[in-house]
Amino acid sequence: MMQQKERGAIIVGGGPAGAICAAYLAKEGVDVLLLDKDRFPRQKPCGDLVGEGITSHIEKLEIIHELDEISTFIKRIKIITGSGREAIMPFECYSLARADLDMLLLDTAAKWGAEVWQGCQVTDVIEEEGFARGVKIRYRGCETEVRSKLVIGADGATSQVAKSLGVMKEKSSGRGYGQRAYFKGVKLSKVLAPGQYDAYGVFCFDELVKPCYFWAVPVGRTGVEEGYCNVGMMVYDRETFRGMSLEESFNQWVKRNPIIAEMFEDAKQIEPWLGGDITDASQRMEHFGNGFILIGDAAALMMPLKKDGLSKAADSAAAAAKAAVLALRKKNCSREFFEEVIKEEPQEDKLKEDILMIQSLYDSKLMDRIIMNLLNNG
Ligand SMILES: Cc1cc2nc3c(=O)[nH]c(=O)nc-3n(C[C@H](O)[C@H](O)[C@H](O)COP(=O)(O)OP(=O)(O)OC[C@H]3O[C@@H](n4cnc5c(N)ncnc54)[C@H](O)[C@@H]3O)c2cc1C
Repeated sequence: MMQQKERGAIIVGGGPAGAICAAYLAKEGVDVLLLDKDRFPRQKPCGDLVGEGITSHIEKLEIIHELDEISTFIKRIKIITGSGREAIMPFECYSLARADLDMLLLDTAAKWGAEVWQGCQVTDVIEEEGFARGVKIRYRGCETEVRSKLVIGADGATSQVAKSLGVMKEKSSGRGYGQRAYFKGVKLSKVLAPGQYDAYGVFCFDELVKPCYFWAVPVGRTGVEEGYCNVGMMVYDRETFRGMSLEESFNQWVKRNPIIAEMFEDAKQIEPWLGGDITDASQRMEHFGNGFILIGDAAALMMPLKKDGLSKAADSAAAAAKAAVLALRKKNCSREFFEEVIKEEPQEDKLKEDILMIQSLYDSKLMDRIIMNLLNNG
């Protein structure tokens, strides 16, 4: 492989965080190289709920119309607790397969001028004199290096960049894990009256298979019509889960709740279960330093209930792009400079509060009480 010129910025990972950051940087005229080990469209386990936080960036990147064309817009969600209590809540977001969303974002990065290399595995970060100076890659059968003034790690929950730089935090209070599959023929009308809302889904916080919650949400343009749903579950800590497989726990959930059983009566699973780690703020780590910035899941920024994974990925991508443009102009990619220009995440006390909030999401007894309160207050 030819000797590569030094790049302005290398972004490792072409998921939403990497692609959005690359698009913003390219828009500002930065020479940006975006690398992903996979070839797109590729599967990524996700609930496929695309919240307002990321949508605002999609608008800025001028692709909201494209998103609209391939999505369902969810308006309500039904929550069912383990003890059978139910509440319908406003829950507005787009819903589309991540394979489609991520393809759209990667194409957008390229359209704005980012150079994209797919099938390119980053194996290490080059560090010299205490600064990240580029990455080592495996690409088209060759092991080689690409150098840059700045490395942006957007390589997800198991970030190689964070590992190579020695900032990946050990497991603290828990490490979330989620799994999803696609089903067709799910009777959404069993959850809410047909036609009552344009689109809806169901979340279930279940006592039997705790600590866990489940969802079934229509996905894509034909989701509601065809009962084409993303069905999934999230556990707070995979290791303390009761030893049963998540598929078994899913089957129990369907059997034990008559509403859910009817919903899935004629449903067919059309894609296999796929799982992935959830890095949330309890794993938060140093997310910038000399010559590098981490964004999205690579930086463990997600805050379930408060800020979903995709919105955090997009917000951190935008903040990193802004900081990177300034740093490259000033020729100063030092930790001190990033400290000045990157807005800090919440302080310790706030973080503890947020972690408690995350944990409560997996506590079906607490969810039961929250639903009771909601129902009592109309
Ligand atoms: C089951 C489940 C359900 C979820 N549901 C939702 C939801 O409904 N809504 C929501 O907002 N969030 C949800 N999340 C979280 C959401 O998926 C993540 O927060 C989001 O994908 C983060 O985006 P990212 O770009 O940071 O990382 P990713 O989307 O993980 O992208 C990382 C990219 O880096 C690439 N990569 C990794 N290692 C390397 C390497 N060494 N070299 C080159 N490339 C590499 C990968 O191929 C990948 O394309 C869910 C997560 C899970 C697991």
